[in-house]
Amino acid sequence: MGNVVAFLGVCDKAAYTGQLTPGCARLNLLGLSRALISPVYPCPIAAHHMVFALEDAQSLMNLRIHLVDDSGKVMARLSAKGKIVGTGAPETADQVCDALDSVPVLVSESGPSWFVLPVSLKGLNVTIPRPGNYTVVQVQDGDRKPIGSLVCGLLEAPPLTPERVAAIRSDPKAATVVNGETRCNNCGDKLRFYAALDVVPKLVARGYVRNTDLPDKWRCSCGKQDWDMQYYKTGLPALLGRHSAGGDVEMDPSSRYTRQRLAEIAAQLRRLLDADPTEEQVHSYISANPILWHQFSATRIYSKTSIMTPYKVDFAILSTDRALHLIEIEKPAKKLLKQDGHRHSDFTGACDQVKDWLAKFREQRAACLDGFKLKSEEVTAVKGVVVMGRDASCSDETLRKLKAMDLGDISLYTYDDLLSGLDALQDTIEAT
Ligand SMILES: [Zn+2]
Repeated sequence: MGNVVAFLGVCDKAAYTGQLTPGCARLNLLGLSRALISPVYPCPIAAHHMVFALEDAQSLMNLRIHLVDDSGKVMARLSAKGKIVGTGAPETADQVCDALDSVPVLVSESGPSWFVLPVSLKGLNVTIPRPGNYTVVQVQDGDRKPIGSLVCGLLEAPPLTPERVAAIRSDPKAATVVNGETRCNNCGDKLRFYAALDVVPKLVARGYVRNTDLPDKWRCSCGKQDWDMQYYKTGLPALLGRHSAGGDVEMDPSSRYTRQRLAEIAAQLRRLLDADPTEEQVHSYISANPILWHQFSATRIYSKTSIMTPYKVDFAILSTDRALHLIEIEKPAKKLLKQDGHRHSDFTGACDQVKDWLAKFREQRAACLDGFKLKSEEVTAVKGVVVMGRDASCSDETLRKLKAMDLGDISLYTYDDLLSGLDALQDTIEAT
């Protein structure tokens, strides 16, 4: 067989940058991998590029590639004549593949000159039906030669525990509702589906079925589409909490926090704080509105967890950087400083409490993590946080000193810091 071609994998993004002088083109590839990992199948691959290495530009002229499943069925056909010659769906068979038309290559006059060719799969209406191993085959002169394989793996959806749900709600950009539909272009039948933290009556009214209520199989009335829905049932919730869903599943933008909603939450908290609430009242308000923790980039938010000490941790937050923050909140009226500017015993008491937890973690890390059902590798640092007091209880000068105070592994937030964090967040959200 003549031309040598290798399949290198799939990538999320491929773009030529800088000056496109032949031979000097710079190719940026993002996320090149032999594996495609998705929580839902059938999984569309249109958002990806397949990446090949070609021995020389001549091999581009008659490159024909098939993607084949384990039963030998051809899932997709690519041709390098600037066109996709055929796909699983005939209606897109003649769509031009832009990537192939605009490859700046250096052709060497003497000797081989390997180059990398990303092929956009946009316009190729192909879905990977189920997790598995797919073979990439080069077809030339009647010969079929495997040149690589694509592993399509299943990403298991993390369970929607109360800790995970609270973390999703604390992220202003997170999807709390995702939806999509599968349809048959032949008979027009469609199945609409969604996943969300709660039932969404608005979607139900439009015929969307919640993932947990989906049928195991869906077959359109003409029989052309025959889908196994099991991965949608279990996998869709994995898309919750992401900033974009991808594939043919969209996030519902109306489910995001609006400026108005954030303003309401801030106003309610201000009213609560001004009414001399108990610690318990503040705890339940923050529990119900985890967006107040948005600056922690949470992946889990725990409430009232025991860590082998007589006192439970009020809140604990696992951040995306794998730091576990142990948070002590105090009754807002408790004092930070004494008249003479030194720390009030309320404040030192709160700090001592957090220091005890941190010490416990140093002594018996594994047992403490057990309380959070966290594995050792999920946590790289443990930090302390005290939330107490109001800014107005100090003069500007003492407040500045207080916030600059070195408290070791402990950070101090006043309730006003939580409020101003919410105010700042409102400014980042477009008015609706
Ligand atoms: Zn049909």
